[in-house]
Amino acid sequence: MSEEVDIVIIGSGMGGATIAASLADSGQRIVILERGDRLADSKEARDHVAIFQDGYFRPQETWIDGEGNSFNPGNYYNVGGNTKFYGSVLLRYRERDFEKVEHLGGTSPAWPISYDDLEPWYQKAEELFDVSGDETQDPTEPRHSGKYPNTPIEDEHSIRELRARLKKAGVSPSSLPLSVDVKAWLERGNTPWDAFPDTTGAKGDAETIPLAKALSRDNVSLETNCCVDALITDDQGDISEVRYTQKGTSKSLKPKLVVLAAGAINSAVLLLQSANEAYPNGLANSSDMVGRNFMNHNCTAVLALHPFRKNNSVYQKTLLFNDFYFSGGPENMPLGNVQLLGKVSGSILAAQSGLPSFMANYAANRSVDWYVMSEDLPDRDSRVTVEKGQIRLDWKRSNWACHLALVKRAKRVFRKSGFPLVLSRAFDRRTPSHQCGTLRFGADPKDNVLDLYCRAHDHSNLYVVDASFLPTSAAVNPALTIAAQALRVGDHINQTLRA
Ligand SMILES: Cc1cc2nc3c(=O)[nH]c(=O)nc-3n(C[C@H](O)[C@H](O)[C@H](O)COP(=O)(O)OP(=O)(O)OC[C@H]3O[C@@H](n4cnc5c(N)ncnc54)[C@H](O)[C@@H]3O)c2cc1C
Repeated sequence: MSEEVDIVIIGSGMGGATIAASLADSGQRIVILERGDRLADSKEARDHVAIFQDGYFRPQETWIDGEGNSFNPGNYYNVGGNTKFYGSVLLRYRERDFEKVEHLGGTSPAWPISYDDLEPWYQKAEELFDVSGDETQDPTEPRHSGKYPNTPIEDEHSIRELRARLKKAGVSPSSLPLSVDVKAWLERGNTPWDAFPDTTGAKGDAETIPLAKALSRDNVSLETNCCVDALITDDQGDISEVRYTQKGTSKSLKPKLVVLAAGAINSAVLLLQSANEAYPNGLANSSDMVGRNFMNHNCTAVLALHPFRKNNSVYQKTLLFNDFYFSGGPENMPLGNVQLLGKVSGSILAAQSGLPSFMANYAANRSVDWYVMSEDLPDRDSRVTVEKGQIRLDWKRSNWACHLALVKRAKRVFRKSGFPLVLSRAFDRRTPSHQCGTLRFGADPKDNVLDLYCRAHDHSNLYVVDASFLPTSAAVNPALTIAAQALRVGDHINQTLRA
């Protein structure tokens, strides 16, 4: 027997939890189905070796790449989704990111809505996530209709010095907008929060803020350890049933409305594997765009160090510079964003670089660690598919020359600011942290999966609010834009329900 409910939300990460908070006051009976469990606290939660070397929290799952090689992805299945591991950076896309922008590697297309359409929802998302920041520091900061709820998180001593060095070197460092209670985080252990799981609620992540808010209402419930396997359509093409497996038992729900938020890769996978006689290429796929235009940012970790100067920071991650965001490349093309990583430890460095422990410790005690990020452009052949039940992620990196130019410029800045040694290493497909684009939104159903309010063009009661709707990746972290869009779509659904 399938139970009848009003709304099923699939996934409790950034998109799913945020729309749950937005819909909670509607009085509708809402069930959130989450594949993973709540993350329990454990000694591994603050153990660098367990996290970065042993892959303790990584899923027991292998995907294949375009050439058929297997890999274990850093894609996390738990209540709160990937935000449980996130760096808590909540940046807005810049106004120009909503327009057509020429890059070294091609064109970043215009969004179907403008920055002004999303701005009120960015503001609400920053209020929801209680973000700490300063909208006056970064010259590329887009227009804000209000202030950040809190002043920026303080730089640690070495980072305060770094800020001064960077200014001297001619760039404009500014505070990262963050959602984290640093005092509460450090009470549990002296580690950074970036890429560490939040098991005590110190980060402002999807579980601690919007999900907690949604679950405070009696009409919202969360079912964990539920992997949704298929969406079933009726004769009108509406989603009539959601089938899932909970701890080995097959179950189903009959909702009036479905909100899919399983993450950009798994939402595409679910639609593809729900193919039926009426929809042989998968649901929502009359455009043949489901799973295409996969993007993931081009990112490199750069360690800048002076052999005789220590970096005593614990968390480090409080500043960025955007001096090369819109210009600075060959022909003055845009390059991207440069922001601090969480402090890299000797064991992380040894695990990632293969350096012997003593060398890795020496370098990590002295390095300032950076995350250099540039835009990955949409390409219909960059694609998620399902092969014999296994996920195939054929990521076609784009705009690589732009990324190399950004890494080169950033290294020059680091040397000029007093760090003679710089080491770098690019992230690859095993780190799909900023996955997006696989179910993009747009007005034309021939070319887009979702309409302007993220409703599937092909199914009137199916919405998608995770990173898959993003038509471009820009060169900033995606979570705030996902949350803002989820609030915008939630408001639209609430209005539709009231009407
Ligand atoms: C280490 C790390 C650091 C990051 N740092 C930042 C940062 O500082 N700032 C930033 O903006 N972004 C950051 N990100 C990216 C950010 O976390 C993601 O962009 C964001 O979480 C994506 O939101 P989402 O709703 O698309 O998916 P997710 O948040 O991943 O949520 C998807 C949810 O769906 C569930 N699910 C999947 N399949 C199914 C299924 N079949 N049935 C039921 N449930 C399912 C998953 O378990 C998960 O809970 C980081 C990511 C990582 C991994």
